[in-house]
Amino acid sequence: MHRTDHVLRSQSIGSQKTLSSFHFGTPGARPKVYIQASLHAEELPGMLTAYHLRRLLEQAEAQGQIQGEIILVPMANPIGLAQRVDHKPMGRFDLNTSENFNRHFPDLCAAVLPLIEGKLGSDGTANVTSIRQAMATHLQAWQPDTELASQRKQLVSLAFDADVVLDLHCDCEAVMHMYTETPCWPAMEPLARLLGARAVLLAKNSGGLSFDESMSGPWWQLAEKLPFPIPQACASTTVELRGEGDVNHTFGKADASALFGYLQHLGAVGGEPPALPELACAATPLAGAQFVKSPVPGLLVFAAKPGDRLALGDLVAEIIDPISGTVHALRAEVPGVVYARTTERYATPGDDLANIAGSVPFRTGNLLGA
Ligand SMILES: [Zn+2]
Repeated sequence: MHRTDHVLRSQSIGSQKTLSSFHFGTPGARPKVYIQASLHAEELPGMLTAYHLRRLLEQAEAQGQIQGEIILVPMANPIGLAQRVDHKPMGRFDLNTSENFNRHFPDLCAAVLPLIEGKLGSDGTANVTSIRQAMATHLQAWQPDTELASQRKQLVSLAFDADVVLDLHCDCEAVMHMYTETPCWPAMEPLARLLGARAVLLAKNSGGLSFDESMSGPWWQLAEKLPFPIPQACASTTVELRGEGDVNHTFGKADASALFGYLQHLGAVGGEPPALPELACAATPLAGAQFVKSPVPGLLVFAAKPGDRLALGDLVAEIIDPISGTVHALRAEVPGVVYARTTERYATPGDDLANIAGSVPFRTGNLLGA
């Protein structure tokens, strides 16, 4: 294993942030797997999972069992991790630009299209090599003009040519769930089994250019645009490791063990891969998920908790106005599992209060929340 410290562009005189990556195996070996944690910096279960996974990988390396290349970034957002306001962590949005740290990653399909003109043919494997070279050329030419852009460039530069990309997040209060693009689901299904995911949300380009979709999106998008064989050469997922408060060694070790088992299934690590448990849920379309919102402000009292399976019309929560005495009931408009809910207990109109994994698509446009 070797550690590399990447110095980000300085945003202010006297201040310099550093991003650290841990590298296992031989550069260029396949499969290449890239794993990062806490891009939303207050989402810490992944950071603890990465800590435990690093120990497992160091043991495997000592036994000569690293077969592919594995890059681990346990703390993917040094900018956000340092942000605090009124004694509270502010790790989701960059306070300078108000941008979500997990949006605005590059559209690599658009970037490489002009660079691969005349370079693809009937050999899918050769096409992958040409496209990855074009991505590298584009990324090398990218001159980030801010600290935030240099952080995004560094993360993408470590990950863009990986076969598998895992971005470890969590929700506010939640059960284990995953977001992945539909073409990546076959590659991610074993991971969902090993992690015991209770919801898997599928989409193709959910909007906003999140990190995982910036990595997997170009492959199916190029395959749809061009008359050449282009395989899905990168499978990526955003793993939501339960809720923000679920930082403990029991979960951290179990999740690290699941990721390690997945690395064995991929062939990135040797040894006998663990048996795959049954899927704990069926994958459902992200466009079928109900984002429960309140039309009125008030005190939020939940009736449903993460993991509950609701029928149509079941009570999710009440919004109580203590002045007028009115009680507004929020009900399930789709049947399905409640996979996440807010930690707030005061609701204002437009807030995302809870999410239910319905199986029939009905939403369009940008499918992710803020
Ligand atoms: Zn997140």
